[in-house]
Amino acid sequence: MALAASPLPRRRCIAVRIRSITVGGDAPIVVQSMTNTDTANAEATATQVAELAEAGSELVRITVNTEEAAAAVPVIRERLAAQGVSVPLIGDFHFNGHRLLSKYPACAELLDKYRINPGNVGRGRKKDEQFATIVEIACRHDKPVRIGVNWGSLDQDLAVRLMDENARLPKPEPASEVMHEAMIRSALESAQRAEEIGLGHDRIILSVKMSGVQDLIAVYRQLAARCDYPLHLGLTEAGMGSKGIVASTAALAVLLQEGIGDTIRISLTPEPGGDRRQEVQVAQEILQAMGLRSFTPQVTACPGCGRTTSDYFQRLAQDIQTWLREQMPMWRERYPGVEELKVAVMGCVVNGPGESKQANIGISLPGTGEVPVAPVYVNGQKTVTLKGESIAIEFQQIVADYVARRYEAQG
Ligand code: SF4
Repeated sequence: MALAASPLPRRRCIAVRIRSITVGGDAPIVVQSMTNTDTANAEATATQVAELAEAGSELVRITVNTEEAAAAVPVIRERLAAQGVSVPLIGDFHFNGHRLLSKYPACAELLDKYRINPGNVGRGRKKDEQFATIVEIACRHDKPVRIGVNWGSLDQDLAVRLMDENARLPKPEPASEVMHEAMIRSALESAQRAEEIGLGHDRIILSVKMSGVQDLIAVYRQLAARCDYPLHLGLTEAGMGSKGIVASTAALAVLLQEGIGDTIRISLTPEPGGDRRQEVQVAQEILQAMGLRSFTPQVTACPGCGRTTSDYFQRLAQDIQTWLREQMPMWRERYPGVEELKVAVMGCVVNGPGESKQANIGISLPGTGEVPVAPVYVNGQKTVTLKGESIAIEFQQIVADYVARRYEAQG
């Protein structure tokens, strides 16, 4: 994975170390994800964590919601170690985090970061005590903490207090502004309290997740201007399918373009039986499309039109993209820089040769009525013309040979 510095100016913030990963400072924007297995099922959870890590998730969060889940954390870590997976694990705590972390010290020790939500730590006087307990445990084990405020579970005492203060103003602000301020204050006041208890300034990451795109952009802009903690970005409850992807991309792209955001997660609702790794893929694609990081060779393909009446070129473009992605776990180690590779699969002679010449390797397939041959371009030069049934296999081999030739020499 390319770790080049972002080409866009980034907001200055402190760096937080989470095991082998750095979030903030000059570090590249980190991709993270969350499992949806029952954490108490150590085998299923370890399997999914490993899958997410292999897909490129650099931090993986697991919910720790019950005693059984807390007890499973050492088993999960052990199973991952047996598979050679060392991805940092984050424990997500709500309501009973203080109890679970106190009662299960191995869980507290083996998690690499705790995520707590100030709105779900407890109520009234207990809230402060329980918050303090979690932070003291984090200090004792030298763990960073993400203070993750969420729109759906905003600290109601704080929200009511700010609403009351606002109502007494000669010119009250709109309710949405007050709620944004409540989100930000919840994060900042909790961080201040955590530091007073003893947590290091460089052990805190903040997030203020909302489900509306414009709300999310507004709160993060303000939060970014008011602190130097690293920020975890994500649109909460983004939704399913294209809606979730588009809304997350719309929100995150604006903030990332402004240099805001040090780690991202895409909260997609998977289709029933769907692949959890999709959220990792989308996060990577957002960063790569914006030129902020590179993860996987990209395939440029035209949309097709009346000149491509068969779906042959669509299938070839998809097969090549899938095949490239499948190669990455091995290529990443063996061929440094391969994630920058650009491949073009074009549907006809109109834009095919031009686009193919811009890529490292491109193929221009024959459109309807064209001579049934497919010229291949390598580094802008036509090298061979493929024809017949085996175009797809031969093109794949040309890509594999190019990668071995070009990137092995760099390794
Ligand atoms: S390159 Fe050819 S097939 Fe593809 S969209 Fe353009 S005209 Fe249509």
